[in-house]
Amino acid sequence: MPDPRCILHVDMDAFFASVEQRDFPELKGKPVIIGGKPDQRGVVSAASYEARKFGVHSAMPLREAGRRCPEGIFRPGRMQAYRQASRHIFEIFDRFSPYVQGLSVDEAFLDVTGSLHLWGDDEVKMGEALRAEIFEKCQLTASVGIAGNKFLAKLASDMDKPNGLTVVPREAEEIRTFLAPLDVGRIWGVGKKTKQRLAQQGIRLVGDLQNAGKPQLVKWFGQSSGEHLYALANGLDARPVHDREPEKSISNEHTYTVNQDAREVHHQTLLRLSEKVGRRLRASGYWASCVQIKIRSDQFQTYTRQKQLAVSTRSDQEIFDTVLDLFEKFDPPWPVRLLGVGVSQLSDVPVGGDAQLDLFSPPPQPKERKLDAVVDGLRNKYGVTSVKRGRWDLET
Ligand SMILES: [Mg+2]
Repeated sequence: MPDPRCILHVDMDAFFASVEQRDFPELKGKPVIIGGKPDQRGVVSAASYEARKFGVHSAMPLREAGRRCPEGIFRPGRMQAYRQASRHIFEIFDRFSPYVQGLSVDEAFLDVTGSLHLWGDDEVKMGEALRAEIFEKCQLTASVGIAGNKFLAKLASDMDKPNGLTVVPREAEEIRTFLAPLDVGRIWGVGKKTKQRLAQQGIRLVGDLQNAGKPQLVKWFGQSSGEHLYALANGLDARPVHDREPEKSISNEHTYTVNQDAREVHHQTLLRLSEKVGRRLRASGYWASCVQIKIRSDQFQTYTRQKQLAVSTRSDQEIFDTVLDLFEKFDPPWPVRLLGVGVSQLSDVPVGGDAQLDLFSPPPQPKERKLDAVVDGLRNKYGVTSVKRGRWDLET
């Protein structure tokens, strides 16, 4: 049965670089590269389409960009201006649907199922109206993908870039045909490693995945990844568009009945809190990119410390390691009244820097993740206290 939803994925074209070209007309038609100077460390955060012709793309080291595009115009970037443009775009999104899920400053999913009738149930008309309004109000172009789910909509917005609109058919067989000729790397979450593993099995196109069938994919990739891969290869994706109020953070805290100054007690408390947070995080389906602790003194002063992770996580161990590190660096000299552990910057795909990670490749600590899943399963079945992980890394 076709997905009854209508999902738009809107992606601004070379956003930062386009804002530069808009605000400084002398840059129009020129290879503009945002991120810094070519002799600086760091990476390209955006490249205009003129620069992309030289093989420059975002996340590429600036030095490499300088080599590939010597006549490029390198700019440090004006975050203030980009944020303002982003606000204007999202105001427009809000007028088209109450269900808007921002993925970054220049990209969002809109579930327009309930507002499509305002455009006479004509999704192309609606998509073009959205693009026209963005251009009119911001002098920037956007590419739009329209489909019955998020995966297909995102794929579609990329098909006719820049300044394009692509509609994915809705019937199962048409969707399969639409996907079949695409490279497997186009599947959301299939990165380099999964691509290599698939290539070893002779699978290069999405159509090859479709033909391999579910049992074979489960055999190769395990139950959950195999099924996920098969579903995506057939264009199935039930994830909802999380609207404006997704969980912003997940946290747990503990107040001691008697103020504590024993370090080992704090470590045990932090471990327990990390596991609680990790469990809720996994149940929510999110990955977290930021971990924080909260420490309240016996004098009721509250301190928070946080750490940005290079790669998002949902592992108890990684949360705990980060928490422990933050706690040890803070090292409260006074008795502690309350401890809290939290995670924030939640996303429904694993992220590392600004790049999507490989969903199906072995995670950094495969054993650890497996253990988390096992422990979660037992706890859901028998209650929270049934399984307690031993501490192996600290002397007691
Ligand atoms: Mg973009």
